[in-house]
Amino acid sequence: MITIVEFTCSPEEAKDEVSLQNLIRTHSGKSFPYFRWKKRSIDARSRNIKINATFECANEPLPSLVPLYDFKNVSNAPEIHIIGAGPAGLFAALRALELGYKPVVFERGKDVRARRRDLARISREQQVDEESNYCYGEGGAGTYSDGKLYTRSKKRGDVDKVLRMLVYFGANEDILVDAHPHIGTNKLPNIISKIRETIQAFGGEIHFLSKLTQLKRNGNSIQSIQINYDYWLEVNTLILATGHSARDVFHILHNNHIKILAKPFALGVRIEHAQTLIDQLQYHGRTNDVYLPPASYSLVTQVEGKGVYSFCMCPGGIIAPCATANGEVVTNGWSPSKRNNPYSNSGIVVSIEPGDFKNPEDPFVCLNFQQEIERGCYEATGDNQKVPAQRMKDFVEGKLSTDFPRTSYTPGIVSIRLDKLLPAFISKRLQKAFLDFEKKMPGYYTNDAVIHAPESRTSSPILVPRDREKLHHVDITNLYPCAEGAGYAGGIVSAAIDGMNCVEAMDVSHDE
Ligand SMILES: Cc1cc2nc3c(=O)[nH]c(=O)nc-3n(C[C@H](O)[C@H](O)[C@H](O)COP(=O)(O)OP(=O)(O)OC[C@H]3O[C@@H](n4cnc5c(N)ncnc54)[C@H](O)[C@@H]3O)c2cc1C
Repeated sequence: MITIVEFTCSPEEAKDEVSLQNLIRTHSGKSFPYFRWKKRSIDARSRNIKINATFECANEPLPSLVPLYDFKNVSNAPEIHIIGAGPAGLFAALRALELGYKPVVFERGKDVRARRRDLARISREQQVDEESNYCYGEGGAGTYSDGKLYTRSKKRGDVDKVLRMLVYFGANEDILVDAHPHIGTNKLPNIISKIRETIQAFGGEIHFLSKLTQLKRNGNSIQSIQINYDYWLEVNTLILATGHSARDVFHILHNNHIKILAKPFALGVRIEHAQTLIDQLQYHGRTNDVYLPPASYSLVTQVEGKGVYSFCMCPGGIIAPCATANGEVVTNGWSPSKRNNPYSNSGIVVSIEPGDFKNPEDPFVCLNFQQEIERGCYEATGDNQKVPAQRMKDFVEGKLSTDFPRTSYTPGIVSIRLDKLLPAFISKRLQKAFLDFEKKMPGYYTNDAVIHAPESRTSSPILVPRDREKLHHVDITNLYPCAEGAGYAGGIVSAAIDGMNCVEAMDVSHDE
């Protein structure tokens, strides 16, 4: 029998086995030979920082946290075609193995190992490989990320299953325990490779450097797909999991008269502070504390009727060049598992809706705006992957920054008046939001923080509408618009869940 024991303790006690054993005894009145963490969160609201601890305790060895998955040999099973090997495409493929379908995955980018070299080239040569970059390639946009695994979309599916599967493929069991789990860029590629090896070992296929370039429609179904402008394949079921950066895919859909709609998204900048400052502010002066993880923050405010909020905050992280084409710049952030870089970065973004523009009915209205900003920032710095940057107070006060502290963005930064470069409806809101954030987190507003622009790939600016229950496209019954690119996920876990949900929905409709 498993007994659950809950208590709060100090960060020091939380790292010490003997203290934990004593606390379990004190709080349960019993001594257990076997115990393990069930949930762990930090309460740093007061100076006396506490760890909220939940333990599973037993008199016999505790059962494994990770089940053995019932993947079937699908070598001769009916095929489902999946476009994109991001979290959605890979988890769709894993679910297909469980349900007895053969996943055939096409991915425009390269495998994780080859992809890493292309990422290094962005900083070194200031060139983006337009098929292999921070967004395209095995594992999708999630591979070289912070690997934060928390999601608000718990209603949409089985978060626990995704986390357990990640542990099965090599992630640390801590992700099942921590309130804000993350994996880290250094660990994700191996996990992704193991997922690929499993898909192939059970008879599935993954084809790299294989891009969907066209499709053929027959009434309300997709008849065939074209790969690399080269060959055509007949399809029964098509899961489209191409992420929010694949603008060409939205054009393929639109040109084939497959309905797409403009969708709200968010755009702004990525700000970088010293991690020691964020630790000091969040942990009441405690810095470089071995008992506490590098601190994070989450800030939100309303300015003139629009939400302005922090997005994808990376403690101990690095700002990454995430453009998918030359002629544009895009920032995002990653961090290693230890989050041990001296910088802390976060997107600070303003909500944007189709109604903000003159022609909200145009499905591309938000996407075109996003692209215009990315190109404008590129043109402002010259023909390279450097990004325009400004110190935080200079941005708010409308001054050109004359120098910068060291920042983590390796392609380089160029001093530019972002308050002028970004459209006023964004820059003015950001200026007010920074002042408001100072009230919420005194010390946050400092000229030692540097803002980099743009942070523009927060979520898809396009919705590919689908049937609420059956999850296929509203008009095309064998097309499953999946996860972030279609507007149904935001982040690694929710994308993985949506990938599995699409395969389950397809399975149910086959049985009907
Ligand atoms: C630097 C960075 C850091 C991030 N940090 C986090 C984080 O910490 N936590 C978190 O939850 N989320 C994070 N994200 C977001 C997260 O990665 C995405 O939400 C998630 O990957 C979306 O999954 P997806 O499968 O829907 O799409 P994607 O991951 O975008 O995958 C889509 C795949 O489709 C492929 N593709 C596109 N077009 C075609 C085509 N025509 N033919 C064939 N293949 C195609 C792409 O190459 C890509 O591999 C981060 C993103 C980036 C870029």
